[in-house]
Amino acid sequence: MKLWFPYKQMQNMEVPLEVDSGRGVYLNLSDGRSLIDGISSWWAVIHGYSHPEINAALKQQVDQVAHLMLGGLSHKPATALADKLCEITPIGLNHVFFSDSGSVGVEVALKMAIQFWKNIGKVGKTKIVSLKNGYHGDTFKAMEASDDSDFTSAFETVLHRGFLVQPPDGGYYAHEKLVEIAVNEVLALFTKHANEIACFILEPIIQCAGGMIIYSPEYLRAIKKLCEKYEVLLIFDEVATGFGRTGKLFAAEHAGVSPDIMVVGKALTAGYLGHAATLANTMVYNGFLGRNYETALMHGPTFMANPLACTVALKSIELIQKHGYISKIAEIEKIIVEEFKKITSPFIKDTRVIGAIGAIEMVNAEVLIGFNNYAAEQGVWLRPIGKILYLMPPYVIEKNELLQVIGVMNQWIKHLK
Ligand SMILES: *Cc1c(COP(=O)(O)O)cnc(C)c1O
Repeated sequence: MKLWFPYKQMQNMEVPLEVDSGRGVYLNLSDGRSLIDGISSWWAVIHGYSHPEINAALKQQVDQVAHLMLGGLSHKPATALADKLCEITPIGLNHVFFSDSGSVGVEVALKMAIQFWKNIGKVGKTKIVSLKNGYHGDTFKAMEASDDSDFTSAFETVLHRGFLVQPPDGGYYAHEKLVEIAVNEVLALFTKHANEIACFILEPIIQCAGGMIIYSPEYLRAIKKLCEKYEVLLIFDEVATGFGRTGKLFAAEHAGVSPDIMVVGKALTAGYLGHAATLANTMVYNGFLGRNYETALMHGPTFMANPLACTVALKSIELIQKHGYISKIAEIEKIIVEEFKKITSPFIKDTRVIGAIGAIEMVNAEVLIGFNNYAAEQGVWLRPIGKILYLMPPYVIEKNELLQVIGVMNQWIKHLK
């Protein structure tokens, strides 16, 4: 095949479904069928496909200017989006660096953290701490920060890993003893190695690609304190969790914690264009000020702050705010919780729900073989990650559509033998 697909053994890949158009939550296939997209095209298409207001904003911008280099030039969509992101993200994140994908946004965050310590004269603080099950993207430094998995296994011999620590067990409402065990591991690590550590990067509240694993906000509060005490920069990777997915505009809000650096992507541009933003607090930003290039952030993706991407992001945020999306997401959560109660089976190990995310952990991945095709036959597009059967629908999904998506999951599980 000429077209090389992601995360696939091309030798035996099934022919993928061909999509002709998208409208609202529906993917219209070339063969005439329509499927409800239960996973928002990798969690990005939060307003559904072909949203009239977003389309109109983009058409207007494309007639104005489609692209500009940010080197030496600026434009209103970029400054307006930077202002907006500073306004809506956790307090203290006052500076925005744009890039073109979540992985690159993570690279920028890690470069910021490592160079920050060098710039202020603390040599040797270069290592990264991250969480088991974490996923931060597919580029090299992002792979180093991610847990060992199918995504990284081909490169283990060339990855210079830092430290991996265990997130707390017990879910969102974990017993404090469980949180304490995980915090103590970090305390022990910092006590011994803080002078080598630049940053602690994690996905706050829920680790998505790593298996939809939810953990206690208490952990984030404790880690924030430890990071401050031991001079370790705290990075929240909100590429998956940002823009309402967990029921708060950003997952950091569950803990009331502001990181030093935060990365957003995916839903930033509502699935229209590849873009990401790395936000930093003023302490980090000030660490890059000086008289020459030596302390400057020497990074500049060609398409950073692309005017179309900034325009679509601004419109998306406006829609989230104007239409009370956070309460819509609370409704979605309620429905998922209720419907999941009806799904019981010896093949289920655990179910987890937060915001507009519902995940069913099966006993193994084998019981999901063939699920994709089954779901498509029932009019639903879902794509399990390993043994995790999950939905992350567009926020505009109607109740009956949501019931259809969850119903397909239930039907499949019911018929397992
Ligand atoms: C998807 C994802 C990334 C990578 O983003 P890309 O746009 O695919 O490069 C990074 N971090 C998290 C948490 C993600 O879910």
